[in-house]
Formats: sequence, structure tokens, C-alpha cells
Amino acid sequence: MGCLFCDIANGIVKSDCIYENDDVIAFHDIYPQAPHHVLIIPKQHISTLNDINDQQIELMGSLSIAAKHIAVELDVADSGYRLVMNCNADAGQTVFHIHMHLLAGRQLAWPPG
Ligand code: 5GP
Ligand code: ZN
Repeated sequence: MGCLFCDIANGIVKSDCIYENDDVIAFHDIYPQAPHHVLIIPKQHISTLNDINDQQIELMGSLSIAAKHIAVELDVADSGYRLVMNCNADAGQTVFHIHMHLLAGRQLAWPPG
């Protein structure tokens, strides 16, 4: 089974990349839900948050550090942003390669729908 986000990480599928390091890549969501909607993913394939392990503590931290840098780059660090990771059906996960959503640029409702 192919994986869309592995293909994006490997450059096989084009994306609008905004940030990259050895472990992580971030790109604009194709169906943005806010003026800024970025997806931050590990280059390594992990299907869901249920599949992470103790060897991936640093990698999971790298997603948050990347988000912080991207927020500065987008000039939303002070105005605010939301980080979301959906896991499985009830949360609405549709791509089974873990990813962090960074949403910003408008007042976001809470609680989320
Ligand atoms: P999920 O619903 O799994 O938390 O989030 C998956 C996200 O991937 C959705 O927000 C969706 O719009 C985005 N997405 C799906 N296909 C593509 C694609 O081909 N390119 C990009 N950049 N984003 C995609
Ligand atoms: Zn993958």
C-alpha cells in the first residue's frame, strides 16, 4: 500500500514545502481550513499516534520545534496558532501517516467541532 505523505516526503508527489530538516518536512495543506494551514510530518512512516514508541521521543519533539519555527516564519507566533494531531476515525484522521496540523490566521473556535 502506498502512502501519500511518504510520497510527499520523498518528493514523488509535489507539495508546497515551507520547512524541512533531516527528520521532518512541512507543507501547506491542499484544503486549508484557516488562512494558514500547514502539515508537519516525520519523514519516517508512522501510521497513527498509537504506533509511536520510546525511540521516537526526539522525533515527536521535532514536530513541535518545527511548528514553533514555522509560526515565526508565518508571523503568527504572537497572534496565535493551534496544533492538532488527529488519531483514527473519531478524530477524523484521513491520511495514515502521522501529521501535525498548524492552523492560524483567524480566531479559532473552542471546543473544536
Ligand atoms: P487528517 O484528516 O488525516 O488529520 O489530515 C489530512 C490532511 O491532509 C487534510 O487536512 C487534507 O486536506 C490534507 N491532504 C490530503 N491530501 C493532500 C495532498 O495531496 N496534499 C496536501 N498538501 N495535503 C493533503
Ligand atoms: Zn507514510
